[in-house]
Amino acid sequence: MPFTLEQKNKLIDTLKAKGVRNGCPLCRNKEWVIGDEYVVLLPQEMLPDGGFVLGGPTIPVIPLLCKQCGYVAMLSSKILANLPPEGKV
Ligand SMILES: [Zn+2]
Repeated sequence: MPFTLEQKNKLIDTLKAKGVRNGCPLCRNKEWVIGDEYVVLLPQEMLPDGGFVLGGPTIPVIPLLCKQCGYVAMLSSKILANLPPEGKV
């Protein structure tokens, strides 16, 4: 489900309250946009055969995109917004 405008505004307020004011690390632009939905990272252990495992713990993140160059920063949704709870896929 996409973030609502209210959720995005709350995230922006939270970032400001936490003192996040730096520009993009690549182009120094200071205009960012919050992605429309969560992204889920899948932590992986190194397997002897080079493969990977699907399923297991996940890390939900909120994408923050630079409006100028497209750099994507990923912020922990648990730390930033306490949403959604970490889970399994
Ligand atoms: Zn940039």
